[in-house]
Amino acid sequence: MTEMRRTPEFMTTDELADTLTRLAEAIRTGDSLEGSFEYLLPDEEHPCDGYDGGCPHVMVTAGFRVGNQQGQGGMQFIGGWKPAEQVPA
Ligand SMILES: [Zn+2]
Repeated sequence: MTEMRRTPEFMTTDELADTLTRLAEAIRTGDSLEGSFEYLLPDEEHPCDGYDGGCPHVMVTAGFRVGNQQGQGGMQFIGGWKPAEQVPA
């Protein structure tokens, strides 16, 4: 199993909704059979460096399988978690 490391990525709530819409369609068509999806507000450990006040961002942690219509498919990651070898120490 590949070691995973947290790498926060921020989306606006509009971007989050668009992403979930695309994922929902992949699930509906049988192209994504498993995965996980989490969205959290920025916190002290992962502060948002975008807006000061009225922050429209959420921190997305997602990993899900796509391409299942063609067989095993592959994992797609949206922020949050990446294989450790892709993250600078
Ligand atoms: Zn923000």
